Amino acid sequence: MTGCSTSDSSFGYSGSAKSLGHKPGPRGFRTVVLDAGHGGSDSGAVRNGIREKDVALDVVRRVEQKLGNAFRVKVVRNGDYFVDLDDRVNRASRSGDAVLVSVHFNSGPSSLSGVETYYWRVDSFGLASRLHRAVGSVTPRDNNRGLVRRRLRLTRNPTIPCVLIECGYLSNRSEAALIRQASYRDRLAYAIAYAISAQASEGDGNIGPLPPPRWDPPSRGTDARDQW
Ligand SMILES: [Zn+2]
Repeated sequence: MTGCSTSDSSFGYSGSAKSLGHKPGPRGFRTVVLDAGHGGSDSGAVRNGIREKDVALDVVRRVEQKLGNAFRVKVVRNGDYFVDLDDRVNRASRSGDAVLVSVHFNSGPSSLSGVETYYWRVDSFGLASRLHRAVGSVTPRDNNRGLVRRRLRLTRNPTIPCVLIECGYLSNRSEAALIRQASYRDRLAYAIAYAISAQASEGDGNIGPLPPPRWDPPSRGTDARDQW
């Protein structure tokens, strides 16, 4: 046996270490792709009178405003229409030296609250950590599943660093009451913009050890949602 190969053809799918994000997180990137979850016929979660697609888009627009002077910002959707997940992935992958942040809100048992952040690639860990910490400082509690390494289409398949953040639980009454407030959504957006800016200027500095590489195949729509 020689050392670890960067080719994974023996596993029956293609992908190099680089394309799988097996490298440190980015620094100095100038393009940010913002993805507001769901849209159009897909409302996402609808709880306590709030539709996930609406608040996700609102937060993305606020992040775009805050980043606008310092970055080239691309938004995957800028209105209430449906965009297929694979189209979101392709759009992000065509964006060159960029990162992708997908904004969602969560739903579950009414007792749960707080931020939950998903990443899969090694080069996305720093950005995910920064986003989780920044948004967690805004949300009332950060006591749920935390920073989660999960292979989703939006965390595994783009060719750029990518993070999906669930900015709070619409199913929790008190958190939903906050999310309904524009000033609160503005604080969430500020935290997201802050984390993206910090990653661009500091890379993985002060992030700590990176997670080990994973070689899992691309995520597909037929996969169970809770895949690791
Ligand atoms: Zn969602």
